[in-house]
Amino acid sequence: MALFGISISMWLVGVIGLSLYIVLYVISITIYGKKPGRNPFVLPSLLVKKPERTADDVINNQSARDSVLRQNFTGSRIPERLDAIVIGSGIGGLTAATLLARARKRVLVLEQHDVIGGCCHTFVDKGYEFDVGIHYIGEMRPGSFVRCLADQLTDGKLMWQPLDVDFDRVIVGCVDGGGKNRSVLVTGDRKEFAKRLAQEWPDDAAGIEAFFSLLDRLKRGSKLYWGLKLLPLPLARLLIKSGLCGLFSAYFRYLHISLKQYLDQHISSESLKSTLAYCFGDYGTPPGETSVVLHALLLNHFLRQGGFYPIGGPSEISFCSVPVIEKAGGRALVRAPVSSMVCNETTGRAVGVTVQRSDGEYTVLAPLIISDAGLINTAKLLPQTALEKSRIPEP
Ligand SMILES: Cc1cc2nc3c(=O)[nH]c(=O)nc-3n(C[C@H](O)[C@H](O)[C@H](O)COP(=O)(O)OP(=O)(O)OC[C@H]3O[C@@H](n4cnc5c(N)ncnc54)[C@H](O)[C@@H]3O)c2cc1C
Repeated sequence: MALFGISISMWLVGVIGLSLYIVLYVISITIYGKKPGRNPFVLPSLLVKKPERTADDVINNQSARDSVLRQNFTGSRIPERLDAIVIGSGIGGLTAATLLARARKRVLVLEQHDVIGGCCHTFVDKGYEFDVGIHYIGEMRPGSFVRCLADQLTDGKLMWQPLDVDFDRVIVGCVDGGGKNRSVLVTGDRKEFAKRLAQEWPDDAAGIEAFFSLLDRLKRGSKLYWGLKLLPLPLARLLIKSGLCGLFSAYFRYLHISLKQYLDQHISSESLKSTLAYCFGDYGTPPGETSVVLHALLLNHFLRQGGFYPIGGPSEISFCSVPVIEKAGGRALVRAPVSSMVCNETTGRAVGVTVQRSDGEYTVLAPLIISDAGLINTAKLLPQTALEKSRIPEP
């Protein structure tokens, strides 16, 4: 009965909120006319002053790069009066740290490896540089949200090279029988890609159209998901659990449908299913264990503008981010394996970390602890009492 009451009130809140939005929208159109909104990501307040740089300005000198990316942990290098500690220096940790640094917070990034960057790090062997993860990123055209974010994080220093319009080629062996291999070039123009697929698999033309229409609906629907991130967590949860979000956004309706389930239902050719799922390696879970929504997010990411590569290689991401952290008084230190988190016994809140090194154990305290080490790894760092208080399942 109580749940029914909550559900009804949530619907009411939703209906009132929506009505209010419609009224405000109508008033704004009446006053200002129906103009396309200004792109907030090109507002002067958000633009970082980009230095004039070309590919020739990338610093290739290894010792200059090491002096930024391989600063060993020592007790004397820990900044005083820290505002935050970030465990792990992957793109997630660096993003958190640089955003805080841009808000003038003093952050210490602790990385267990001997180089900063996580999956963005590179290594040199016999004079050649190899990347370990990132080989392209989408939506980096100037003026896009992602590009604006990347510029903020790197002080506008990171440069991007667009890849060829046809940025991938999918070759599928003769899974359909008949001994025919299939080969399709993937292009950053989604309409052209859909056309190529329909030419290669004419019998599945309807399924291909349905798939691309779903991509569009999920893209539109994902705006609600990002919008919910601005709300307090309990309110966002309530909106999702009440079913209101599913009512307005396909994103929430398809969340629990796996990519495999969706493809089995709408596509008959096995080689086409493989082609549509080809990039599952980018996020690492097989189609049977991946939500079709996650896959659509990735395809939408690349099928709008194609792929971009950081000029100078993926380690440029961390090489341009660390100085932003340092400018605010922070540090990014390597060979700093965090062995446990220090938690307040009463609240369970993390208040520090312990770094275990061969020369001893260091405890570093800060009001905010952020972990980029992954959920399971992070759970392993928590004391049992804190783990029980958190919503993380025991590792
Ligand atoms: C082979 C491969 C190819 C990929 N290709 C692409 C691509 O082309 N485009 C794309 O957009 N994405 C790609 N990805 C995905 C992308 O690289 C990752 O999603 C992203 O880099 C993950 O960043 P992260 O910060 O979450 O984690 P990570 O990069 O994994 O960083 C986590 C860091 O935490 C550190 N850490 C863990 N535990 C501790 C501890 N106790 N103490 C201190 N440090 C700790 C780790 O050493 C690591 O450096 C690829 C991934 C892989 C593996």
